Amino acid sequence: MHTTALVLFSGGQDSTTCLAQALLKYERVETVAFDYGQRHRVELQARLHVLCEIRAQFPQWACRLGEDHLLDLAVLGQVSESSLTRDMAFKMESSGLPNTFVPGRNLLFLTLAAALAYRRGLQVLVTGVCETDFSGYPDCRDDTMKAMQLALSLGMDRRFLIETPLMWLDKAATWALAEALGGRPLVDLIIEHTHTCYLGDRARRHAWGHGCGQCPACELRARGYAAYAESRVKPASP
Ligand code: ZN
Repeated sequence: MHTTALVLFSGGQDSTTCLAQALLKYERVETVAFDYGQRHRVELQARLHVLCEIRAQFPQWACRLGEDHLLDLAVLGQVSESSLTRDMAFKMESSGLPNTFVPGRNLLFLTLAAALAYRRGLQVLVTGVCETDFSGYPDCRDDTMKAMQLALSLGMDRRFLIETPLMWLDKAATWALAEALGGRPLVDLIIEHTHTCYLGDRARRHAWGHGCGQCPACELRARGYAAYAESRVKPASP
């Protein structure tokens, strides 16, 4: 029986939805994020706002929400050339991956999260990785997660469960899941406080939240929200 979880929590739509689900399921939930020299620090600020709002608006979850951890992963900027950490424009590489790809990033995140979970006595690692809408990141695949679960459990001699609630959902379904978990207040919290935009734009506010509206992350979020909003106004089938 699993009762405790560590959520990899970046402050975006996906990881906030994962956090809400973990708070419904588990008695004690902690959060972790990684500071790897993201070009846009706004992401690290957004996650603190989200935690604060969850505590304020969902008292039934606040009592389960434990410590928040921020791990320094500046070394990632030394080993990778990515538009997430360097000042360069977004483009697709000849490999078919966008240049936001940081090789092995999620593998490192999970390894450090597991080490932290080991120390904190947490059983489940929750991550918002997804194969459905993903940009082709190989370290977000279901098979990769299963392999990591096995490697971490063997390598640390502690049985970890890696939970990926969004693995097979598209962005519209992720909005619907948020509504199912926390009603409209959670959807509104996600719209207002989570951050997705690759350019770090918080000045422009759309129906789906803040962002430039044009980068691939904004486009994906906007499209998903539009599909979700449309599905809500349709009359329920008999
Ligand atoms: Zn954007």
